[in-house]
Amino acid sequence: MPSPIQYEISIADAAAHLFEVTIRIDQPDPHGQVLMMPAWIPGSYLIRDFARHVIDIQARAGRRSVSVARTDKQRWQCAPCAGSLRIRYRVYAWDLSVRGAHLDQTHAFFNGTSVFMQVSGQEDSPCAVRIHRPRQRWASRWRVATTLPRDGAPAWGFGDYLAGDYDELIDHPVEIGRFREVSFEAGGAEHVFVLSGADDADLQRIGRDLKRICAAQIALFEPRARRAPVKRYLFLTYATADGYGGLEHRSSTALICARNDLPHATMTGIPERYRGFLGLCSHEYFHTWNVKRIKPQAFVPYRLDRENHTRLLWVFEGFTSYYDDLMLVRSGVIPLADYLDALGKAITGVLRGPGRLLQSVADSSFDAWTRFYRQDENAPNAIVSYYSKGSVIALALDLTIRRRSGNRRSLDDVMRLMWQRFGRDFENTPQGVPEEAMAGLIREATGVSVTAELRRWVDGNEDPPLRRLLAQAGIRLTTQACEDGPVWLGARCTEANGGVRLTQVLHGGSAHRGGLSAGDLVIAIDGLRIDRQATLDALLARRSAGEPVTVHVFRGDRLMPFELTLQAPPPTRVKLALATDHTP
Ligand code: ZN
Repeated sequence: MPSPIQYEISIADAAAHLFEVTIRIDQPDPHGQVLMMPAWIPGSYLIRDFARHVIDIQARAGRRSVSVARTDKQRWQCAPCAGSLRIRYRVYAWDLSVRGAHLDQTHAFFNGTSVFMQVSGQEDSPCAVRIHRPRQRWASRWRVATTLPRDGAPAWGFGDYLAGDYDELIDHPVEIGRFREVSFEAGGAEHVFVLSGADDADLQRIGRDLKRICAAQIALFEPRARRAPVKRYLFLTYATADGYGGLEHRSSTALICARNDLPHATMTGIPERYRGFLGLCSHEYFHTWNVKRIKPQAFVPYRLDRENHTRLLWVFEGFTSYYDDLMLVRSGVIPLADYLDALGKAITGVLRGPGRLLQSVADSSFDAWTRFYRQDENAPNAIVSYYSKGSVIALALDLTIRRRSGNRRSLDDVMRLMWQRFGRDFENTPQGVPEEAMAGLIREATGVSVTAELRRWVDGNEDPPLRRLLAQAGIRLTTQACEDGPVWLGARCTEANGGVRLTQVLHGGSAHRGGLSAGDLVIAIDGLRIDRQATLDALLARRSAGEPVTVHVFRGDRLMPFELTLQAPPPTRVKLALATDHTP
């Protein structure tokens, strides 16, 4: 076994948000060791250039200092040296998101991609990590939550951890601070929900609900053995005033949520905000199979210095988005009516974007790096989400498979085949799902051919015929006006100093047809001042479709008048209900 790379991490200056990292390499490259910071973090498909947060890098071999030179935006090369090489640098950590690193006097959080350089040529060597206990008094009760395998560190403690290779090192985020936790068993594995930042949340309730969701997912993938794919799983959750986000890892997930999303002791039922939070947990847990072990071939292995393109994110994110809420209802955590409500909203979200008629979900997957993750004001007109439309396609495929197989097969069978073929033994024989494999996998798993449907829905821009497919399953789809009120501007707005600013103008709406643009500041309609959203809403509520109005806007510093013909709100709000003649 190659000798491990020894990483150490400590808090250099919490007020300045600086970690200090040292790396000891016992057998450095004799031609000059190259080190690299990842350009992106797996699961979040955007080039983030984590190297830009590295400060003050130094290298030594024994007592001699070794010169370090930048070779590109993410690499450094040390001069050739004899004996073991020691690199030391600091990392600025002030990104409160699940994708980065964050450090102050209240807690420390990091992903390995933000703090640990990769040692070129030794990517497969084991990586030992020592996490140092901060000496400051305010950190005296801090503990460590991570699924990094312990190698001497006590449970929840500072000390030594060991990852099998660099890929594993960066796949176990670490939360350090004061947190509460609740644990439960599912599929023979310990699961722990770890919570920072919300002292009044009802942990027992969260533990009970998550246990059912996890058990339902384990039963989907392993109906006989009912074994979890991990030995231990952590939900690392950080609550803020209004946060939202999650990132999947091989045996944990990092989550950020709003405090008010979490249940409290006197809460009854399942409010929509808590349902949303459980949906997020369910989504990230489903990724433990779908994308962390069943992966697109393009991610095997991850190349961390550049974009990794795949046309399959509609499967890895879309199917996961379909199953996240579905697992809440299947596990009995939410009632069917709540599920139909959530599903109706998801379909509504897809139908509202004109971009779905221009970009396919396969193209959206491929372009995730430059388009879905870098959305601008024109995004709804130009792109489609491989998450939401992907989940609608998953629903349509599930219903199609059930219909054509006489309800003997479903999308579950496809997931199980993918798990058996690509996921279950991924650690020993890593192989990914080829780009063109889905039609064949679905036919093999279910006996149903959906080649034509995939061509139209996935490679093309067609909306799946949801009304018909749902009706065949006993669910009635109806549509309503997308907004309350008689007319619709076809724009999204925000209040701004002195008026209402258009943030997005949807193609085909009254604003677009009348010549308005995103960025315009609306200050008057028909000669009356518009200074707040409420004024605009009240004025539009008294108009009717087909009426002309004069809108004055500032575009930059230029005052411009526009003539608009108001439209009725289009019927894109979807409601789902069990058909009255349906027998459950
Ligand atoms: Zn996801």
